[in-house]
This record gives sequence, C-alpha cells and structure tokens, in this order.
Amino acid sequence: MSKDSEYKIQMLEEFYGDAEVVKRGLEICDICGSKLVHGHMTDFDHLLVKESAHCPECGHNKRKYLHLIH
Ligand SMILES: [Zn+2]
Repeated sequence: MSKDSEYKIQMLEEFYGDAEVVKRGLEICDICGSKLVHGHMTDFDHLLVKESAHCPECGHNKRKYLHLIH
C-alpha cells in the first residue's frame, strides 16, 4: 500500500516537472525573446487541451498539446 502511494507521488512529481518545463518553454519567444501571448482551446474530439503561444514582436508561433483529459 505505501509502495503504491510512493509510486504515485513520484509519477505526480514527474508530471508537474514536465508541465513546468512546458510552461517555461511557452513563456518566451525562441526567436526574439519577447513575452508570448497565450491562448488555449479544448479539443473534445481528441480529448486534448491545445495550448498555443504567439509572439507579438516577430509573429513566431509555438503550439503544444498539454493535457489528456481523462
Ligand atoms: Zn518573437
């Protein structure tokens, strides 16, 4: 039982760790370093949340599929 919950905590840490990396990666433009403008939409057909970020300075777009909805 305690082994199970340890495993679960580890999985959660990995998940949130990844999410933080994704979030940081979406905050700043790869091209010019400006702060990105965010948008997201829920895709119920594919059970995904799509997050996109757009740079107002150079027009660069980043797009990431963030979450599977269970
Ligand atoms: Zn840019």
